[in-house]
Amino acid sequence: MNSLPLGDQVMDLFDTFDRPLRSLRLSVTDRCNLRCKYCMPEEEYTWLPRETLLTFEEIHTLVGIFTECGVDKIRVTGGEPLLRRDLPTLIRMLAKNPRIKDIAITTNGVLLEEQAQSLYGAGLHRITVSLDTLKPERFKALTRRETFHRVLAGIDAVGKVGFTGLKLDTVAMKGFNEDELVDLIEFGKTVNAEVRFIEYMDVGGANDWSMDKVLSRAEILLLLRKWYGPIEPVIENSSAPAQRFILPNGTTFGIIPSTTTPFCATCDRSRLTADGLWYLCLYAKQGIDLRDSLRMGVLDEVRARILAGWQGRTDRGAEERKDLEQFSMRERFIEIEKLRQDPHLEMHARGG
Ligand code: SAM
Ligand code: SF4
Ligand code: SF4
Repeated sequence: MNSLPLGDQVMDLFDTFDRPLRSLRLSVTDRCNLRCKYCMPEEEYTWLPRETLLTFEEIHTLVGIFTECGVDKIRVTGGEPLLRRDLPTLIRMLAKNPRIKDIAITTNGVLLEEQAQSLYGAGLHRITVSLDTLKPERFKALTRRETFHRVLAGIDAVGKVGFTGLKLDTVAMKGFNEDELVDLIEFGKTVNAEVRFIEYMDVGGANDWSMDKVLSRAEILLLLRKWYGPIEPVIENSSAPAQRFILPNGTTFGIIPSTTTPFCATCDRSRLTADGLWYLCLYAKQGIDLRDSLRMGVLDEVRARILAGWQGRTDRGAEERKDLEQFSMRERFIEIEKLRQDPHLEMHARGG
């Protein structure tokens, strides 16, 4: 039964579809040192005002309240999270919370080589590096930056400093990297990483999105079968978005089929922006402001907003997007002008 949490007790919160609140994506900055076409296609953006950004103490306090409400998994993201100064300090603060079972980070890897050791020392559990191509020239065309070698150095550093469970996330796109799926899986083996292919999503900054650029789960499996032979699903009981598969040679990989096979029915995730807005869905157009009450010191109000927000949650954004297909109405999610007016609508502001 839902009721207000009482400080040292943990409660389970359920939304209107009986989905628990378990996982929080923490965007620590909206800034990024890459300009991936599918996320930040423009060079300049309206950035969140500096004074609105939550301090580490404020994030720590909010996360503490979230963990009273059932959150036990934190993923630190952005923008590029490693651009946030002294990030290991925040990780160290979060790692002291015994209710958190898993603290992970998603990074583009550019700054990982220099930070991997201190992140490990601070108590970070797992790292996911986004890697869409193994070809430097493609990386440059996709990201508009020439830092591919630094991503590779970052990936290399992960195992060296002691992390296990590295994941490599690849946005699979037609006309871009469908010829690299096998190479990426093989590269993953050399760095002890499991590769996960993400279907291209029509989220905030993906202005260039169209259905014909989406390499679907079925197409990914078909391409891989041609090379490896029969592929079996890994049977596991998990609310994680990735469906895992095993190749005849024993190698496993994942597919996150958000676009063609949404998994909203089991979604236990929400997102906190760097300036303290709480989004109940990747596609939500409005967030719940937690910063004001936090800064006024009324933590009961913060708790009450989280409670009411989750209990009233009806979001199933990716399923609703898919529903539009039957009317041939699935087009770009948000017009560029609207994105300019409200930076929170961007994927890089709310965390991927
Ligand atoms: N900057 C970090 C990174 O790239 O890993 C963390 C933030 S980024 C928004 C998180 C993840 O979202 C990345 O793996 C990125 O590839 C993914 N992403 C961004 N836009 C996407 C889109 N339109 N479709 C699918 N995945 C997307
Ligand atoms: Fe690319 Fe991540 Fe930066 Fe978006 S936030 S542009 S996905 S590196
Ligand atoms: Fe969860 Fe929204 Fe993504 Fe569906 S679209 S899986 S409800 S975040």
